[in-house]
Amino acid sequence: MKSESVRPTVPKCTFCENPAIVYRKEVNHHLCKTHFIADVELRVISNIEKKTLISDGDRIAIALSGGKDSTALLLLLYRLLPCWNDVHLIAITIDEGIAGYRVETIRSAQRLAHQFDIEHRIISFDDIYGNTLDSLLRGKESQACSICGILRKKALDKGARDVGATKLATGHNLDDEAQSALMNVLRDDLPRLVRNSSTMKSPYFIPRIKPLSDLSEKDIATYLLIQDAWTDLPECPYTHNALRREVRSMLSDLEYRYPGTMLRIMDSKRKIEHYLSGIEITEPLRHCKECGDPSSGEVCQVCLIKRSFSH
Ligand SMILES: [Zn+2]
Ligand SMILES: [Zn+2]
Repeated sequence: MKSESVRPTVPKCTFCENPAIVYRKEVNHHLCKTHFIADVELRVISNIEKKTLISDGDRIAIALSGGKDSTALLLLLYRLLPCWNDVHLIAITIDEGIAGYRVETIRSAQRLAHQFDIEHRIISFDDIYGNTLDSLLRGKESQACSICGILRKKALDKGARDVGATKLATGHNLDDEAQSALMNVLRDDLPRLVRNSSTMKSPYFIPRIKPLSDLSEKDIATYLLIQDAWTDLPECPYTHNALRREVRSMLSDLEYRYPGTMLRIMDSKRKIEHYLSGIEITEPLRHCKECGDPSSGEVCQVCLIKRSFSH
């Protein structure tokens, strides 16, 4: 009797003879380990070039939380450094003061910076705001993410300014960006939808860049895993933004059934930004009457938070 082999065949890489480890549905490519890494690096460099995120001579402060996205950001920018002349990387880690979470992620950030011989600064909420996030949040835990986000933004800006950075790079990925865009639509927040801090021409802000914004969460996880750069770290105990969680699960379901959904959301956002460019839809920038920092209202959000803590 003839016996037929029923062994499932592993698809071959679209670009070489090696077995594929990843299938990119959007472009119908099967990729081996080497070609997947090359593909990720190519997508990051074209994102950077398309939006002119990095120029020769830049001093780039990397917001290095020690988590997956910022680890991938550091790895990728380090590898891509030869693409520019005289570009310098400095890692900045914010220690918000979150018990049971930060110690390990800071350790991971330190290890990474040391491994690549990159200057590393750690800035704590305690130094800047006189207290840890844990104590600042007591009784206000439900607003944790928005309060922490505002305080962390200012801390990162301060850190980047202190090291003389010309750009501040964050590890936001495509999933984060598509979720935020959709959340701004759901909240009818047009100013926030079209606000683009990388092109904002203001002497008060260090331009923020998001080199990984074309890579999905899955791309980043795979990129780290296949290079043994994956570290399992605790999750922030405060993450419970209800709307983001729902949007996240809805988008990943849509992305699975209709590949390219998240990229199309970002294309839409860019078109809206383009049509609205030059039209003033945000409040003109003023200066906070308490700290002097740029602010859209009389008092900036950080000072408003500080006020609420002293009550
Ligand atoms: Zn290959
Ligand atoms: Zn202020």
